[in-house]
Amino acid sequence: MKAIDRKDYAPRYAYHDEPQSIGFGATISAPHMHGYALEKMQDFLKPGMRALDVGSGSGYLTACMANMVGPEGRVIGIEHIQELVDISERNVKKHHKDWMVAGRVKFVAGDGRQGYPEDSPYDCIHVGAAASEKPTELLRQLKAPGLLFSPVGTASQSIMIYRKQEDGTVREEKWLGVMYVPLTDKKEQYEKGY
Ligand code: SAH
Repeated sequence: MKAIDRKDYAPRYAYHDEPQSIGFGATISAPHMHGYALEKMQDFLKPGMRALDVGSGSGYLTACMANMVGPEGRVIGIEHIQELVDISERNVKKHHKDWMVAGRVKFVAGDGRQGYPEDSPYDCIHVGAAASEKPTELLRQLKAPGLLFSPVGTASQSIMIYRKQEDGTVREEKWLGVMYVPLTDKKEQYEKGY
């Protein structure tokens, strides 16, 4: 995380340990949450690995993941608000334009609930917004072994860690209780301004 300057991604209080609005009903998560996520995912973000960041928002975590997978790795950020896709590209280009050019980081606009089959399967999938139920489509796009980190739930949410084993079976761990913005459809997000 020290390698990626949060100031390039967070509009105001870049180094405060709290979530911040980035517009369009989206929030950049607090640094401690990004730290928790990266630590949990680290064995599946080794050099050369391939990862997907669903609800990539500011692009900060996507860039941290790209830093970990190195020049031979690849991280796709999928975000359903086009303006945020543009902002995240601009943010990464401030210090890591070469990563975008080389395809080490790629942002796409789309509904992340469907994952991004084009570049699947992934060693690691991170979800930055709460899924209402078990994200089965994303599990399908995971390698075996592979790890999926996702907040799940509506009124009450928990971080779920799904570990796909080599034989394809999935082990679930219910981890922290959290409050994320929901994985939703675009229209709803614009209207409710989460
Ligand atoms: N990890 C990001 C989190 C941004 S907040 C960061 O720290 O900057 C969650 C993001 O999920 C928002 O940007 C929101 O627009 C996006 N999102 C919500 N539902 C989505 C969906 N169905 N598909 C893709 N992105 C979605």
